[in-house]
Amino acid sequence: MNVHDSEKVIGTLIGQGYSQVDTPEAAELVFYNTCSIRDKAEQKVFNRLQQFKKDHKGKTFAVLGCVAQQEGDKIFEKAPHVSLVCGSASYNKLPDLLIQLETGNKRVTGLSLDTEETFDTPMTRRDNPHRAYITIIEGCDKSCAYCVVPFTRGPERSRTSASVIAEARQLAAAGYTEIQLLGQNVNSYHDPSPAGWDFAAMLDNVGKVPGIRRVRFTTSHPRDFVKGIIDAIDSNPSLCNHVHLPVQSGSTRVLDAMQRLYTRDQYMQRIAWMKQASRPIAITTDIIVGFPGETEEDFEATLGLIEEVEYDSLFSFKYSRRPNTPALALGDQIPEEEKGRRLTILQERQRAIQVRRNATYVGMVEECLVEGFNKATGQWIGRTSQNKTLNFLRPGSDEDLLGKYVEVRVTRAGPNSLAGECVN
Ligand code: SAM
Ligand code: SF4
Repeated sequence: MNVHDSEKVIGTLIGQGYSQVDTPEAAELVFYNTCSIRDKAEQKVFNRLQQFKKDHKGKTFAVLGCVAQQEGDKIFEKAPHVSLVCGSASYNKLPDLLIQLETGNKRVTGLSLDTEETFDTPMTRRDNPHRAYITIIEGCDKSCAYCVVPFTRGPERSRTSASVIAEARQLAAAGYTEIQLLGQNVNSYHDPSPAGWDFAAMLDNVGKVPGIRRVRFTTSHPRDFVKGIIDAIDSNPSLCNHVHLPVQSGSTRVLDAMQRLYTRDQYMQRIAWMKQASRPIAITTDIIVGFPGETEEDFEATLGLIEEVEYDSLFSFKYSRRPNTPALALGDQIPEEEKGRRLTILQERQRAIQVRRNATYVGMVEECLVEGFNKATGQWIGRTSQNKTLNFLRPGSDEDLLGKYVEVRVTRAGPNSLAGECVN
């Protein structure tokens, strides 16, 4: 989502007559887009800002994103060389803020969260030549006890279905074949126009735009994950067979303390829908270990859940205390060392699951979108519909495959990728 926000900001700046340069050295105005989801990410921002100051004297600095929203004016105290601070809910005001900077204002902010508008840009500078992102819903109306997002990205607002479909058509006309729909809770999408599409209808219709061969989406919230989404994937081959469904914990007691709005059983019901689909759907997740009060038994329940689901991959994090969040008030903080121990155990278990699962692909033929070429190994880098990396050789041909779809037979499997040979 941050990558795509940067693409939209760059498009907006180009629309205002600025031009993008290749290095910070060549820039007069340096924008720094930031993340504050965990403490480590936030610390990096201030370290980098200090480094920038030393290396790039005399330039104008701007801080965007969640750290900007969270710290606001305080950024000017911590980093006095910064001139502009703007959160993602105010990016539509960037043209005005830039004019204020150009007219000599040294301290400019865009920090309002009470915007009804979504950040719809007339121009977006897209960096990925194969996959185009479309934000369909901004912000978050949930209040998970550990999370800063509702404070930094503001309330949920959905774009109209007509504007999303128009953007998908433009992207197809520009040659894109793969679209990824984005939102903090992408499946909470609700069309504000009279058409009134829900998320399943949006998915199906984007998948029917002529020229679009692959549609992905991230991130889904389990509470709003209805069976209609799986039915749409099952019936429309353009919808990739991969669902990222963050569980956070396998213990209903911890899920309740996290205010996640679902139980373990309700989550497993959604997994059962996916496993009953006629196409094999890859399932991935996010897990937090060491949430306040998480006992050894709770942690064991999480380990049991990953074995039961057999995720294709997962992102795992040590719980990090974040400003303003309800979890700050909870006692029983788990020591850092114990969080680290749990994280290592979880990751080792998951690695074994991935080795096992990926081995089942050996011998199968998978369609890949070719995204790169590794000069060192002579292998093309492809991505399957299930979002797996498949490195492959195409002996006896020097055709440029970048951006093309090819069939690849899987011959080897590792924990994080597959390898094979092109069969067409
Ligand atoms: N909206 C998505 C959902 O509810 O599943 C997740 C969005 S969040 C940007 C991405 C992931 O960061 C979360 O799924 C969670 O695992 C992790 N995360 C968020 N806050 C965290 C915290 N305070 N400490 C550790 N991990 C955190
Ligand atoms: Fe954060 Fe929860 Fe909203 Fe996801 S649903 S962004 S974890 S508050």
